[in-house]
Amino acid sequence: MLLQLFVCIVPSSLSLSESRLFLISFPDKQGEGSEIRDQRSEMAMGKTLLCVPSVANTAEEMAADMAAAAAMGADVVELRLDCLSSFQPRSDLHRLLTNRPIPALVTYRPKWEGGEYDGDDETRIDALLLAMELGADYVDIEFKVAARLLNLMSGRKPENLKLIISSHNYEMTPSVEELGNLAASIQTLGADIVKITTTANDISDVSRMFQLIVHSQEKQVPIIGLVMKDRGVISRLLCPKFGGYLTFGSLNKGRESAPGQITGSELLNVYRIREIGPDTKVFGIIGKPVGHSKSPNLHNEAFREVGFNAVYVPYLVDDLPSFLNTYSSPDFAGFSCTIPHKEAAVTCCDEVDPIAKAIGAVNTIIRRPSDGKLIGYNTDYVGAISAIEDGIAGYRVKDAAVSPLAGRHFVVIGAGGAGKALAYGANEKGAKVVIANRTYVRAKELASLIGGHALTLADLENYHPEEGMILANTTSIGMHPNVNDTPLSKQALKHYAVVFDAVYTPKVTRLLREAEESGSNVVSGLEMFIRQAMGQFELFTGLTAPESLMRDIVLRMNA
Ligand code: NAP
Repeated sequence: MLLQLFVCIVPSSLSLSESRLFLISFPDKQGEGSEIRDQRSEMAMGKTLLCVPSVANTAEEMAADMAAAAAMGADVVELRLDCLSSFQPRSDLHRLLTNRPIPALVTYRPKWEGGEYDGDDETRIDALLLAMELGADYVDIEFKVAARLLNLMSGRKPENLKLIISSHNYEMTPSVEELGNLAASIQTLGADIVKITTTANDISDVSRMFQLIVHSQEKQVPIIGLVMKDRGVISRLLCPKFGGYLTFGSLNKGRESAPGQITGSELLNVYRIREIGPDTKVFGIIGKPVGHSKSPNLHNEAFREVGFNAVYVPYLVDDLPSFLNTYSSPDFAGFSCTIPHKEAAVTCCDEVDPIAKAIGAVNTIIRRPSDGKLIGYNTDYVGAISAIEDGIAGYRVKDAAVSPLAGRHFVVIGAGGAGKALAYGANEKGAKVVIANRTYVRAKELASLIGGHALTLADLENYHPEEGMILANTTSIGMHPNVNDTPLSKQALKHYAVVFDAVYTPKVTRLLREAEESGSNVVSGLEMFIRQAMGQFELFTGLTAPESLMRDIVLRMNA
């Protein structure tokens, strides 16, 4: 059949900035294969399925994985035959496909396409034909050899079988035009479901896959479009928003079938993929690294609590301006910023709240709904300072007109994003601010900015102009796994009445433990974490943050 040429302008709701205009050819709707098209359109309109791959080495373990995937709530289990160390096609497939608890996708991936199978293609294709005969719900065949399988099938496709024709690129993600042409070629060949998997070298690569999925959805072509590796994780989380046919989630950590895959249980319980739809707003944390962040657990559960239709994802970002420029549609409604992007975020926003500007660090970005402009805020400042004020014995922030920090020496260790927020906040409260930093010149810069005093870390050891000072560590010293490190000796701590540590893994750092032993009041970084997150939640949603729930979640995460 002649192919129809579509010119597609990506809908404004997904104005991912790169390649707004692209060409994709899909088979003529009036053409061959109309009976499978009905099935396709039904599937294309449905919810994104969760498929759990089994990479077990034995058929026994694979059968157990199928039961575990069903118990987890997966819709489909993928049987990776190439992972079986001794595969007996007829007996193993019969065993696996008889009484399967959920639909099964059979894949027999060769080494030349990133799998484990090292033999000839004929044997492999024969096994896939056998899987069809034995009732597999889905069979995956690589695009490069799909024509051979289709020839052998000679038009006799089992009624309930859905054929996935797949292409994997382990190097990069091609242009939207190339992806579109590949999808069209795969569909023309006779795929019920097109599968294209690429690799993200930068998070902006994923936007091209989203564009392809949106366009395929419009044309009612079921597509699995995923981008591998850490920088591609959002493709796995957000495909339900853009209309991907399915997403893969591993049975547990260490049992991934592709790089960047997260667990099925995280997809269901943290990111709630079943509840994500076209109108779901997307928030997330921009950082590098970001995989360790607990913010997705916290914000997603808080969104659910208040019934806010949104999802919160991790963004592993190398280049902040390029990221913000790429994900520029209203769908991407707000961002948290963490190391190392807080300072660069100030220059990337269209407008910056005066406090964030004075601090020189933005930890929250909101896309203003009325004009799409990015507005930067800093919730670290209020979170940390209010936590320290509340940590001062006998004082309640809400009751007092004058801050208990006023007139007292307030020593900040560190001059990075958190250090700036603390130094600015303490100065605003009337404290005498002293900044000690490893790189002395940065301490001096910050001190001169806010009218404070600068010290080297060595000088800090013998610094005690008064008793009852306040200390705030804003460096990562003492953070997991270096839990035996501390920024100041126990001996020096006796001059401080209150000691705060921005580090919150572990909850009680060596600094806090020794400060408590020296008789100081201590304030955990967890308190700052909870309060800055509550501030972000309120900026994201316009709703009051569910404080007790957020506290419970954070305590649970750190138990
Ligand atoms: P940042 O902008 O990268 O600043 C890091 C600061 O720590 C710099 O002053 C740096 O000194 C100093 N530093 C790093 N390693 C050091 C070492 N080994 N010895 C001495 N000084 C060292 O980072 P940030 O955003 O301010 O975050 C800093 C810490 O605060 C992190 O542990 C972060 O997790 C924590 N934090 C906690 C919260 C919360 O909610 N509790 C919020 C924000 C941040 P140089 O200038 O010499 O490089």
